[in-house]
Amino acid sequence: MILDGHIHTNPGKVDRQAFLGRLKSAGINGGAVISISPDSLGISGKKLKAAERLDNLIAWTGPHPGLYPFFWIDPLEDDALEQVKAAVMRKVAGFKIICNRFYPGDRKAMAVYSAIAKEGKPILFHSGILWDGHNSAKYNRPGEFEALLDIDGLKFALAHISWPWCDEHIAVYGKFLNAYTRRPGLSVEMFIDITPGTPVIYRREALTKLFTVGYDVENNVIFGTDAETNDYNYRWAREWMRRDRHILKGIGLGRGALNKIYSENLLRFLGASAKKVQKRYLRPAE
Ligand SMILES: [Zn+2]
Repeated sequence: MILDGHIHTNPGKVDRQAFLGRLKSAGINGGAVISISPDSLGISGKKLKAAERLDNLIAWTGPHPGLYPFFWIDPLEDDALEQVKAAVMRKVAGFKIICNRFYPGDRKAMAVYSAIAKEGKPILFHSGILWDGHNSAKYNRPGEFEALLDIDGLKFALAHISWPWCDEHIAVYGKFLNAYTRRPGLSVEMFIDITPGTPVIYRREALTKLFTVGYDVENNVIFGTDAETNDYNYRWAREWMRRDRHILKGIGLGRGALNKIYSENLLRFLGASAKKVQKRYLRPAE
């Protein structure tokens, strides 16, 4: 089974069958579907109320068992906490956030993350350079996400291996692994979303560093494409999967590890799998 952990939705006609057909053409069985963006991101080009975006999201995913709705929330909107509740009522699988004009540790945003964690839902954050036309790189450096060490029970993923700050991304992941030894009971967990962002020439280097650094990453890496429900680019998805598999097999990853990256880790991130994993935490001088 292959699940795409990072699929976007744009305004337009909702055609779930066509979407599922295109996923199938890529050999993909389902995945995490992210709602249309909030107004503050200005990506969708349409002003839609949160409730309309939520309706649209659920129309795309419906009751299909392999499609997991992720509601994109702007934590600085005044009714963000009510939006969390409304989305949970509609049984979303998780939330998406882009810190486009605030640091990840912003106080108001942190309260929203806490509410999401209390509902047992994960958050997929953008991280890395952000093509929003504005001065926003400083908000998306992986080091800024250390603030999430204080959100009890949260599962979060940083997308795109934070390209071009892949080294910093891996270091932050190591920081979280070490933190568990220093703070017994710490319950926040970081996942690594390898959705491209890394241009092709950086891909081998980034994946090689990630999987050979010596940190316990195998249970926390999630495959994704950044493709769209409206016109899922299955050729592009196939091309990335082929390229990545070639690199990952070359590094020595076997079928078990690939299954985790291509589906099992996403299901654990969503809380849809009861599978427990044993982590090897990092201590200094190891
Ligand atoms: Zn994306």
